[in-house]
Amino acid sequence: MGTPPQAPAVTLSGRTLITGIFGDPVEHSLSPAMHNAAYAALGIDRVYVPFHVPPAQLRSAIRAIPALGILGVNVTVPHKEHAARLIAHLSPEAKLLGATNCIVNRGAHLYGDNTDARGLELALRELGAAVGGGRVAIVIGAGGGAAAAVLASKRLGARRIVIANRTRRRAIGLASRFARPKPEVRGLDALLDRELLSGAALVINATSAGLSSSDFPALDYKSTPADCVFYDLLYAAAPSAFLKPAIALGRRSADGALMLLNQGVLAFRLFNRMTPPADVMRKTLFERLGRPLG
Ligand code: NDP
Repeated sequence: MGTPPQAPAVTLSGRTLITGIFGDPVEHSLSPAMHNAAYAALGIDRVYVPFHVPPAQLRSAIRAIPALGILGVNVTVPHKEHAARLIAHLSPEAKLLGATNCIVNRGAHLYGDNTDARGLELALRELGAAVGGGRVAIVIGAGGGAAAAVLASKRLGARRIVIANRTRRRAIGLASRFARPKPEVRGLDALLDRELLSGAALVINATSAGLSSSDFPALDYKSTPADCVFYDLLYAAAPSAFLKPAIALGRRSADGALMLLNQGVLAFRLFNRMTPPADVMRKTLFERLGRPLG
């Protein structure tokens, strides 16, 4: 992957309106490139700024949003759950997920929403994932990404969802937030359970493991049906250790780039109250990843 293309220089004026992202770290984030490319394409005087906010500064940084007239910010690792506790007005989805990835300045108050599950649902629909007919959706992991994956699976129509996590207690906590169907809780041994895997329509990796094969748990890919879809929330220039065996077997699969794109498109609407040029955001994201358009 060569040097990523540089974004055109942004000209700031006295009237430039600000959006941005709070994270720690934040330097790696591809959101500034996506949002600033959208502003440039629309020819509007707005800018999206990455703010490095350490956990101890999150409360002060959120308080500064109205003071500085910032339109809205994305919130990323490790702040999503803490931010949800700091914001009084939350969308039902942010409440359910116990996490916010978007804070919108509504003048009178700050509003916390979460576009991760909707972003993932759109990505899975684009991939043609079909979880109806009593087939199982398996979510590996039990953090904020896994919560979005459970909700997206439910919205796709999954009536049986299994959460497989290394730490059982955390998976029980996640499952308890959902009803009808209440997800089943398993350990990582579920990933070698032939009977379970033979009924899988969808397997989602929502762990932070899997960029290298050494740390990803063993999974019996061959027991999954030929039409089973594999989705990794992680995204990178090359397929992850989770996706590689699925691709080798010819299974439909994708990584988290589309989820990132979709949550960004949804966030843009929330911050700017206008329709974003989604094609520009998509092209910019895939250029930055050094990959052909996905
Ligand atoms: P959390 O830190 O909240 O959760 C991490 C999960 O990974 C936990 O369930 C943890 O298990 C599990 N895990 C970590 N290491 C291992 C390992 N070696 N073996 C097995 N399980 C492991 O992270 P998030 O839920 O916030 O994010 C998860 C991933 O999803 C990240 O890579 C993140 O970048 C990605 N993500 C991508 C998005 C996108 O737009 N594409 C959006 C949101 C997240 P345990 O509970 O046992 O510790």
